[in-house]
Amino acid sequence: MTVDESGVTITDFKTGHEDPSHDEQVRLYALLWARDRQTNPERRATTALVVSYPARDRAVPVPDASALRTLEASLTTRIANADLATSTGDPRALPSPDTCAFCHVRHLCGDYWEKVAPSPAEVPAREWFDIEGKVLRQNGVKSWVVKSEQGGHEVLVRTPNPSKSLPVGKRIRVLGVRKVEDPDRNELVIVALGNGSETYIVTEATR
Ligand code: SF4
Repeated sequence: MTVDESGVTITDFKTGHEDPSHDEQVRLYALLWARDRQTNPERRATTALVVSYPARDRAVPVPDASALRTLEASLTTRIANADLATSTGDPRALPSPDTCAFCHVRHLCGDYWEKVAPSPAEVPAREWFDIEGKVLRQNGVKSWVVKSEQGGHEVLVRTPNPSKSLPVGKRIRVLGVRKVEDPDRNELVIVALGNGSETYIVTEATR
């Protein structure tokens, strides 16, 4: 924030790509500033909102008093609904590709694997995704055949080095595999683990 004689500017610095949700974020900051009696006892209004990306700054229209009240009412309702949903012992999962992509517990989330995880055969070449399936057999020093849970077909899973093995007969979930194109093996769906891929064995407790 910059607060001086000329006005109040709130700038949010982003390191990633532009996203319309960032506008909503700075509007929320304007609301918090408007309602903050301690830091803003004079109730100075925000005069500029900026989302700053590596390549450029984007000005966001500043909500007026009426728009702030509307935003406040909408947020109050959303918070009440969220409180209600999480006050039950078993809150409902809301799986979607955007929601789950960065979730750190998706390897444990049955809804994610059932409703969001893609069929490996349908994933475009070179894309990263997650895979679940039963390890059927070892194919080579660094490759294993896994029967995919999503789609039911066999997938050749390549590992980065011979010391990385997959447990034959077990069901696994791997976060972060890359679809591979191999002109010599067009008939196969092939994926490769990276050094950062995470492999989990599925047990009754994690289903
Ligand atoms: S993976 Fe499951 S817990 Fe995580 S965001 Fe998605 S639905 Fe929610």
